[in-house]
Amino acid sequence: MASYHPIKIYGAGPAGLTLANKLVENGFEPIIYESNPVVGKPQHCSGVVSGRFIDEAHIPHSLVRNKFYGVELWIGRLHVKAESSTPKAYAIDRYRYELWLEETFIDSGGEIKFRVEMDYHKPIRRDGLIVDATGVRSYIVHKRGEVLPALQLILNGNGIMDEYNPKLASIIVDKKVNPDFFSWAINNGDSRWKIGTASNANLWDVLSSAINTDVWTLRKNSLERLYGHVVVGGPVKNFFDPSRNTVLIGDSAGQTKVTTGGGLYYILLASKMFVESLVEGSPDYTQKFYRELKDEYRLQRLLRSLFLKISQEDLEEVINIMARKELFNLMLMLGDMDFHMTSLVRLAMDRDFMKTFIKMSKYIELSMLFSSV
Ligand SMILES: Cc1cc2nc3c(=O)[nH]c(=O)nc-3n(C[C@H](O)[C@H](O)[C@H](O)COP(=O)(O)OP(=O)(O)OC[C@H]3O[C@@H](n4cnc5c(N)ncnc54)[C@H](O)[C@@H]3O)c2cc1C
Repeated sequence: MASYHPIKIYGAGPAGLTLANKLVENGFEPIIYESNPVVGKPQHCSGVVSGRFIDEAHIPHSLVRNKFYGVELWIGRLHVKAESSTPKAYAIDRYRYELWLEETFIDSGGEIKFRVEMDYHKPIRRDGLIVDATGVRSYIVHKRGEVLPALQLILNGNGIMDEYNPKLASIIVDKKVNPDFFSWAINNGDSRWKIGTASNANLWDVLSSAINTDVWTLRKNSLERLYGHVVVGGPVKNFFDPSRNTVLIGDSAGQTKVTTGGGLYYILLASKMFVESLVEGSPDYTQKFYRELKDEYRLQRLLRSLFLKISQEDLEEVINIMARKELFNLMLMLGDMDFHMTSLVRLAMDRDFMKTFIKMSKYIELSMLFSSV
């Protein structure tokens, strides 16, 4: 333990704070340095998470804003729903989630120094351990992989979101308007909605087209505009750089889902693995992470490449077939938003699903199945 003292964590986002709390639980005494004057602002994330995340992160009920019992897909002209009697995803109060992580850290004696900036280019002192949890900024500065500009609006939904079911998460895909990603619309548990997208195209145009309204109405109804970047390039090869005594975690390491950009659950996993490694004597948790998630990332990269290549017409055809065969309900029942591999293995038992999946094989580069991640 002593050889990695002090542990300096840069970034008081979900990654820095989750890791700091896990370190404290295991007897370490990290210090956090944050460039902003406060935790949790500015916000960008939607805070949609799985039940598994709620359980494993011990999220208090008071932080849950809404429960989603299924999904609505808006794919071009198609509108497909899959509903369940039990919640399939949750929207947490993302700002208060970070405050809760901060409070837990401070209550256990931890210290956060604000307005301190990690200088990515300055040589790092060799003593102790540096954790780079500074998020997508680090991923971009170091050109580690693909990111997409993102915009999320907090909307007063009255009048413009009436068509959408507040108890279902809406996913909207129109590749002709946004070839890069999907758009989403989720209810905040009150009259407000979060609608967002990630794209290299004009984000306002994509969002107005997604919910079938004009940009002026969108601007008029938006209570907050949150700009950010979604990491879709996947994780870096090595999280630990011994020459700089630096470890990456969270978005700075690219630990998001390549398919959705969701990072909160993998941050939790990475934090546990990092602390386990450190207790065993090494800060390098790269192998642990890949042992658990290598196949998952291979599949996610394959699905992302499929999404980028498929035409809107073919996508609509596939969705149509799946809807006719009621495969969305099956996906909702058997699917797993954190581990797509588990979903695929379960769904592979269904002949109709596999036939549809094979229909898309012309878009799949077989080499991707065997590539390293
Ligand atoms: C629009 C959008 C929607 C999303 N929706 C979801 C979702 O629904 N579910 C989900 O699981 N994930 C979602 N994500 C992803 C999720 O927000 C990220 O994976 C997560 O916030 C990453 O946490 P982090 O701590 O690594 O980085 P960040 O949250 O970016 O935190 C980094 C921290 O480091 C600080 N910092 C930056 N630079 C420096 C520096 N040089 N020195 C010191 N401090 C610095 C920042 O101020 C910040 O406090 C979404 C992302 C976006 C953009």
